[in-house]
Amino acid sequence: MGTTAEELRAIRENVGAICKDFPDTYWRDVDKKEAYPQDFVTALTASGYLAALIPEQYGGAGLGIAEAGVILEEINRSGGNSGACHAQMYTMGTLLRHGSEEQKQRYLPAIARGELRLQAFAVTEPNAGSETTRIETRAVRTGDRYIVNGQKIFISRAKQSDLMLLLARTTPYADVQDKTQGISVFIVDMRNVKGKMQISPLDMMVNHHTNTIFLEDVEIPASSLIGEEGKGFRYIIDGWNAERILVASEAIGDGHWFIERASKYGSERVVFGKPIATNQAVQFPIALSYAHVEAANLMRFDAASKFDRNEKCGAEANMAKLLATEASWEAANACMNTYGGYAFARDYDVERKFRETRLLSIAPVNNNLILAFVGQNVLKMPKSY
Ligand SMILES: Cc1cc2nc3c(=O)[nH]c(=O)nc-3n(C[C@H](O)[C@H](O)[C@H](O)COP(=O)(O)OP(=O)(O)OC[C@H]3O[C@@H](n4cnc5c(N)ncnc54)[C@H](O)[C@@H]3O)c2cc1C
Repeated sequence: MGTTAEELRAIRENVGAICKDFPDTYWRDVDKKEAYPQDFVTALTASGYLAALIPEQYGGAGLGIAEAGVILEEINRSGGNSGACHAQMYTMGTLLRHGSEEQKQRYLPAIARGELRLQAFAVTEPNAGSETTRIETRAVRTGDRYIVNGQKIFISRAKQSDLMLLLARTTPYADVQDKTQGISVFIVDMRNVKGKMQISPLDMMVNHHTNTIFLEDVEIPASSLIGEEGKGFRYIIDGWNAERILVASEAIGDGHWFIERASKYGSERVVFGKPIATNQAVQFPIALSYAHVEAANLMRFDAASKFDRNEKCGAEANMAKLLATEASWEAANACMNTYGGYAFARDYDVERKFRETRLLSIAPVNNNLILAFVGQNVLKMPKSY
């Protein structure tokens, strides 16, 4: 495998052309109304780019993580927010690597055609936080069904998705020696659940359609189980490198957006008789953040090419996520400072992108846990947890 620079350039151009139909005003309006960018997601689905990671035999584009990353990057670079639909790419590996042939045949072609949406991923719980093995949601097998009880928090797009990947304990924490065991992953068809599944929107700083979900005696068919019962934590971990590379890509897109806007505005806005970017206090932070975004970009492609060659890439994927989210945040602040008071005016889109990119340092995984991975797994220092 391996994508040429020409192929990546073509993807950038094609995705960029789709994004042109969804200008700043579209995203500003969606954000203000806290609406779901339905038309954008429909257009991306119709283009086939949302199904980038679905293999061709199931109707997808059969592309690698490098290409998927470039798709999300271009959306964010254009001023959009790929957070509206990135979950399908984040979760795809779990289904592809560990799902049964029957599950793949049932879901993947319909997802690729845009008839089904897999945009929800339910991991986080109030009492577990970043310590995923502490989740308490229970799935108990009874005959050909599982009965699920528990609570999830911060689950995005549950109301905009048909399918949801759900992580639940099939053996309680206290009953397993190895705490990573006894967790299972299910693909839940939310259109058909029996029992009480209450999805309540949370009032959040970003337009992410994020919810709490209460599950009370929710019945799901046993055929929803992905892979082997009790091995779900391992399956989710398998997907983490892809997720980190994709998050890094989104942050790189944001970083470039901030830098492009700040450079242009700084070169045009005249105060004290000259463009403000003539002043090094304005120009240098923008230049510095550009250097950092480009360095993160190299790490992202290093991680992505290793991932696509099936080589170990945990260190590179984690470092790419860390560097890219820090660089985009640095660029966001440089852009804020360049725009001055206008940065706070919604019509300039800076404050919206500022909020959106800030999320990436914390979710789907916070940067402290990334540093812990580098410190403990790469540098072999003592573990904190
Ligand atoms: C907008 C949004 C959308 C989200 N969407 C989803 C979703 O779709 N599905 C889903 O499952 N989850 C989702 N999340 C949840 C997200 O993944 C978690 O918020 C994130 O992983 C951090 O968990 P927490 O909030 O419980 O933080 P906590 O675990 O409570 O940690 C709080 C802070 O403490 C620090 N910390 C914790 N442990 C350590 C440690 N060992 N070492 C050093 N520092 C530490 C970190 O800085 C961390 O940021 C979303 C969150 C947000 C804000």
